[in-house]
Amino acid sequence: MSALYHASIYDTALPVPSYWQASAGAWNASRFAPLEGDIEAEVAIIGGGYTGLSAAYHLARDHGVLACVLDAGPIGFGASGRNGGFCCLGSAKLSHARMVARFGLEETSRFIAAQVEAVELVRALGAAEGIAFDAQGSGTITVAHRPSRWAELEAEAAILSRHGGGATSLWSRAELRAHGYASSEAFGALHQAVGFGLHPLKYARGLADAAHGRGARIHADSPVIGWQREAGRHVLATPRGRVRAGRVIVATNGFTRDTLHPTLAGTLMPALSNILVTRPLSAAEIEAQGYSTETPVSDTRHLLYYVRLLPDRRFMFGARGGLDASPGALPRQRAWMERRLGQIYPAWRGVETKHFWRGLVCLSAALTPHIAALNDERTSFCALAYHGSGVAMASWSGRAVAALSVGAKGAAEALPAVIATPPRRYRVPALRLMRLRLAYAGFRLEDEVL
Ligand SMILES: Cc1cc2nc3c(=O)[nH]c(=O)nc-3n(C[C@H](O)[C@H](O)[C@H](O)COP(=O)(O)OP(=O)(O)OC[C@H]3O[C@@H](n4cnc5c(N)ncnc54)[C@H](O)[C@@H]3O)c2cc1C
Repeated sequence: MSALYHASIYDTALPVPSYWQASAGAWNASRFAPLEGDIEAEVAIIGGGYTGLSAAYHLARDHGVLACVLDAGPIGFGASGRNGGFCCLGSAKLSHARMVARFGLEETSRFIAAQVEAVELVRALGAAEGIAFDAQGSGTITVAHRPSRWAELEAEAAILSRHGGGATSLWSRAELRAHGYASSEAFGALHQAVGFGLHPLKYARGLADAAHGRGARIHADSPVIGWQREAGRHVLATPRGRVRAGRVIVATNGFTRDTLHPTLAGTLMPALSNILVTRPLSAAEIEAQGYSTETPVSDTRHLLYYVRLLPDRRFMFGARGGLDASPGALPRQRAWMERRLGQIYPAWRGVETKHFWRGLVCLSAALTPHIAALNDERTSFCALAYHGSGVAMASWSGRAVAALSVGAKGAAEALPAVIATPPRRYRVPALRLMRLRLAYAGFRLEDEVL
């Protein structure tokens, strides 16, 4: 089985009807034409999202290596062009307690520190390269969506502040309201100082411009449909051209097909995430709901809800979940989210929604990201599985895998043990969606009933 979901979610010819597409402005994509003919590259990168583009940028800037990036679709076609724009921590689903048990306190702290560094890296890249990605808010807010989840937030605050996750504050329901957040499901919150919101597609395009400006070749609409070895080189075939490269980086995250590389087959669990965006809200509507914070907010659900008040006063409501990626399932998912929006933010019940879209995030069996070599000769590499929080971590991982791919001094040692292995195969890869279905049923019970 090469793809887990309905073919339409991978179809690069289908436009993604996101608010980000509608608001990103004009962009000259003609520099990123499909690959034609055969070329040589020192490093070839499969995937033109944050991971691949950051890898290309850092290869050029830090190592003097001009890479070639191939994406199956337009630049930013994957999750990077259509996510919620939370630039934040949270790229593993393994709990900190289990992480400490498995990797020890020091490695867990190194992983947390890497994620903090990742947020700062995005900010620094934006400043250094003049990427106008509309930074918004201060930190992130995690809301206890039920009173019983408050203890979880207390535990998380303690871990983060003790292990380098930046400053944290715990807010009562009244304090949360005073900070500009009110809903029917808010029983206190954790504020983390590290993090902010951004326009994800502007960021992806800005990274592409920056990598291109430093000499990287970038080819959109160039899916890798074959991967062979010839005389010690990797040969990547696309419909109209081939790249012969000494090294390859796989940066395909949730859009990875099982057929791409044998070491990755059956190791990844793509999962759907969905976003709804309303029309701009009036000042009176915003006041009526008591919601004015520009800081990104998510909640304590396993099947996370994530929301933002966008710069033009539209409300963005995101929710993970769903297993049917077919076009027929879209109206159902949209109607459900519109209903939930009205229940949680009653002043906005029935407000017109203008945009709805979805995409694939990427989980792994270890519930952690992975940055590692895929073969013994260390000529192919992967960086992926950010568990739905890759804006910051994919950017960091692109830089890390770039250094790893050219054998830079200290590159391997710089990786926290939590993320320094290739993903392991699921026991029965063919049953991954069944496994997800069962997990979702359990999550729903814990999130909504228990
Ligand atoms: C709806 C949604 C909301 C999200 N919200 C957030 C958020 O608010 N904050 C956050 O931190 N993270 C969020 N994420 C996750 C985040 O977007 C991802 O973790 C991150 O973008 C991953 O970047 P990437 O470059 O690794 O992968 P992607 O951006 O997914 O890029 C992978 C690319 O690989 C290409 N590809 C696949 N196969 C091939 C092939 N054979 N040949 C060539 N190219 C190929 C695809 O076309 C795709 O463009 C969200 C994701 C989704 C879907």
